[in-house]
Amino acid sequence: MYLTILEVGGLRETSVTQLPAPLRPTRQRKAVMSALHQRAGFTSARELHEALEAEGITIGLTTVYRTLHTLDRSGRLDVVREKNGERLYRPRPADGHRHYLVCRDCGLSAEVEAGVVERWAEYVSEVMGFTEVEHTVELTGVCDRCRFPRPTTPNSGEQHA
Ligand SMILES: [Zn+2]
Ligand SMILES: [Zn+2]
Repeated sequence: MYLTILEVGGLRETSVTQLPAPLRPTRQRKAVMSALHQRAGFTSARELHEALEAEGITIGLTTVYRTLHTLDRSGRLDVVREKNGERLYRPRPADGHRHYLVCRDCGLSAEVEAGVVERWAEYVSEVMGFTEVEHTVELTGVCDRCRFPRPTTPNSGEQHA
């Protein structure tokens, strides 16, 4: 039995239905987590690396990638992927993973209600007799702002603040 109901369209979300595994707080992990928490939305490894260097923290890009991977595997991050395949990260809220709808054009990410996905995952795990089941659900689309761009010419009339 093969279950790939959610691979339509491509959104994503990586999720682990368990608490984060214990992880030794190395200098790199602390620096990366702190930099992630300072940013509002999803961030790429490259952007994160630049931000860390700007703070005077010496860390290689490869180390940033590796650290993000470790943090992701331990359930500490939510991850989405851009259309070019680049992964974007953000800290996972303490009370569990989230699912997002991500704009393929501008990268805007909006949290979506996904109770039905959680219930379905639990149900399938139980019926199939699996434990430690993880799921990845990814939703991407084109946001309203990108679909209907505001005119940028000065005389367009749409000048509300
Ligand atoms: Zn957009
Ligand atoms: Zn989920």
